[in-house]
Amino acid sequence: MFEEKKDLRIPGPSPVPPRVLRATSKPMMGHRSSEFKVLYADVVGRLKPLFGTEEDVMVITGSGTAAMEAAVANTVSPKDKVLVCVGGKFGERWALIAESYGAEVITYEYDWSTPADPAMIAKHLQENPDIKVIFATQNETSSTVLNDIEGISKARGGSDALLVVDAVSSLGGAEFNMDQWGVDITVTGSQKCLMLPPGFAFIACSKRAWKVIEGNTSPRYYLDLRAYLKEVKKGQTPFTPNVQLVYGLAEVLDMLQAEGLPNILRRHKVMRRMTRTAFSAMGLELFVKDEKYASPTVTAVVGAGKFDVEGYRKVLNKEFGIVVAGGQDHLKGQILRVGHMGYSTPIDMLGVIATMEVALKKVGCDLPLGAGIKAAQEVLAE
Ligand SMILES: *Cc1c(COP(=O)(O)O)cnc(C)c1O
Repeated sequence: MFEEKKDLRIPGPSPVPPRVLRATSKPMMGHRSSEFKVLYADVVGRLKPLFGTEEDVMVITGSGTAAMEAAVANTVSPKDKVLVCVGGKFGERWALIAESYGAEVITYEYDWSTPADPAMIAKHLQENPDIKVIFATQNETSSTVLNDIEGISKARGGSDALLVVDAVSSLGGAEFNMDQWGVDITVTGSQKCLMLPPGFAFIACSKRAWKVIEGNTSPRYYLDLRAYLKEVKKGQTPFTPNVQLVYGLAEVLDMLQAEGLPNILRRHKVMRRMTRTAFSAMGLELFVKDEKYASPTVTAVVGAGKFDVEGYRKVLNKEFGIVVAGGQDHLKGQILRVGHMGYSTPIDMLGVIATMEVALKKVGCDLPLGAGIKAAQEVLAE
């Protein structure tokens, strides 16, 4: 009976606002029609401020990984040396994609609970001045670390290496200034902070990146960004796009504009503060210690030693209708991740935190009820 009241607190796909769901059920239209061109040109134009760019934002029908692969396929030629920052599953994904395109991959591995150190990027570039592309992840969803992309960009110094950033779980939830920070390629997806169903990948490229893309020798067809650029200039896509998601995107952009980007970013920070303060007050350990590098879109707490993480997740879901994520790889059974991205509010978090305390009692965890929710209320009341 309460299936539709599930609170989806995983770090993507995230909840879709009802008005966006309604927009995605509008009647189909032809993607070569004049109405489509008007709508499409409008939405891609309105995406630019979210990226912090004046460049064209291109839309690929596919999941976020399609834009990641497009970034690799269009900038990495076989045998090119690339540097990949790996502090979690999505950094690993960059390395796997680059390897599959024949790159010589150098990985800079950093601890999953900390951010990448820009000084280490500079060191790698010094040792390997022929690095062509650097791949980084702004918000490493698997570890809930928010990386310093501006710092990483600056660490390049005078190097010509392109900086490619996965901002899939942060764009629209964390500050991102592509042009100002000197990021060469930014990729994101529809189902995280952009409040849409899965199915769209977005990508924007700097002028420097376009030069590399033109000279690139890797095979590509569906993901050839030159085709997307040519078409987006005309309010078109090279292939049939997910038209329903374009309707949804127009609605999302209306919502984002009504709230205003500074307010959106502030709301995410408030949710981060509430969640972290609550977990600490409950006597639980935060996975990311320094709040400066803690994700504003998803928070991880260490459960191991206090309660059975996977068992607890089941109770939260089955008995209380709250769906949270566990850890991946070596963090499975160790941490719990609570999403607060996109269509999420501090009011949602009050319910989530209070319920998580009750559910902890249910699994036999000896914590005083109310410590977490009180701490969260105090953050909200500030
Ligand atoms: C969700 C996510 C992706 C994309 O995953 P898809 O399943 O392909 O949409 C990429 N990077 C990060 C950091 C993510 O959180």
